[in-house]
Amino acid sequence: MRNSLRSPERLYEFIRVESSQALADDFAASLASNPMQVRLTPYVLALINWHDPVADPLRRQFIPLASEYVPDHPALGLDSLSEHQASPVQGVVHRYPSKALLLATRSCPVYCRFCTRSYLVGGDTVAVTKAHEAATPNRWQQALDYIRDTPAIEDVVVSGGDAYSLPARHLWPLLQTLLEIEHVRSVRVASKVLAVLPCALLDEDGWSSVLVAAQRLARERRKQFALHTHFNHAREITWVTRLAADALFDRGIKVRNQAVLLRGVNDTPQSLGTLLDALVALNVEPYYVYLHDLVPGSEALRTPLSTAIELEEALRGHTSGFDFPRFVVDLPGGGGKRHVCSFRHYDQGLGVSLFRAPAIDPGRRYYHFDPLPPQAQRPIGIEGLIEAFDNAHSEALAP
Ligand SMILES: *Cc1c(COP(=O)(O)O)cnc(C)c1O
Ligand code: SF4
Repeated sequence: MRNSLRSPERLYEFIRVESSQALADDFAASLASNPMQVRLTPYVLALINWHDPVADPLRRQFIPLASEYVPDHPALGLDSLSEHQASPVQGVVHRYPSKALLLATRSCPVYCRFCTRSYLVGGDTVAVTKAHEAATPNRWQQALDYIRDTPAIEDVVVSGGDAYSLPARHLWPLLQTLLEIEHVRSVRVASKVLAVLPCALLDEDGWSSVLVAAQRLARERRKQFALHTHFNHAREITWVTRLAADALFDRGIKVRNQAVLLRGVNDTPQSLGTLLDALVALNVEPYYVYLHDLVPGSEALRTPLSTAIELEEALRGHTSGFDFPRFVVDLPGGGGKRHVCSFRHYDQGLGVSLFRAPAIDPGRRYYHFDPLPPQAQRPIGIEGLIEAFDNAHSEALAP
């Protein structure tokens, strides 16, 4: 952590020395549209193939280049999932009746350029000034009171940011308090540490000892506890990951993975299939594959809905059913996660699909937007797209 690169200047210098002046300049030119702060561990930097960085799946996730920039989609809003609207108190997103998201920190050991929560996570950048909704340890009280006073909440996701940013002395009382609330029967901790700093989990007295203690408490209380992590490509898995995953497995900690579908990283049956196999071999359950949300500056990484549908078709049957991920889209406007095949209508020509989310708002139509085809005229208004879709499919859309 101490040796992480934490500024654009340091990363620029690193790329210049490790690769070329041209690549360093390409990175520098991307900063004007990059919503995420720079922070990379030496471990992640060492996994990038510096002989061919442009095609490298890790470089693509963590180091933006101006040469691959695609303008943002017109439907983009900074908080595209409308989490702000679903937040009853600072640091809590309560969208689904029985589940709550506790945004316990705003920082991460490594920043992904495509972070869904780029409106909140990490420090300000040239392109984006962040909201400050996350609860901080001295403000958790309000969030915990809300969860305690809302008996419908049975399942709490401790996220952010990355829970690894919370030192053990803060994380443990938080998990203990949550597990001791009678109506909370499941607690999950979201952290990418297994993917970006697995060696940190090998220290038995360190951060992972909190997971072990929480697991023990959960079991005593007959509750569920799990770690949710985030691998997107098999190249992120090393012999150190294997040791760390084994240590977690040995201590009875359930680990699930939430991958994001990224163009040029894991959008082929081969690349995604290899990742799923590698996760299963680590005893990590491939829980979700998310369609990439609308995030500023990362339109180049988005795939159309059809890619997710085709990947699911190609890969289903590839692993045990319980190790096959759910392919989902988190609907813009706050419709929540829906299975990618559950659209009511999908116009691939326009790149617009329509979903319903009865558990959240039975009367509302939720639209999802594929990346615009390269030849599309810009700027193309979002109202125009919806109108064209509704007019072309009025019969299919009749209630
Ligand atoms: C994803 C999410 C959850 C957890 O949902 P699961 O489908 O149970 O993993 C809870 N709250 C919010 C706001 C979420 O986005
Ligand atoms: S680790 Fe998660 S929260 Fe942090 S930057 Fe990456 S996607 Fe965002």
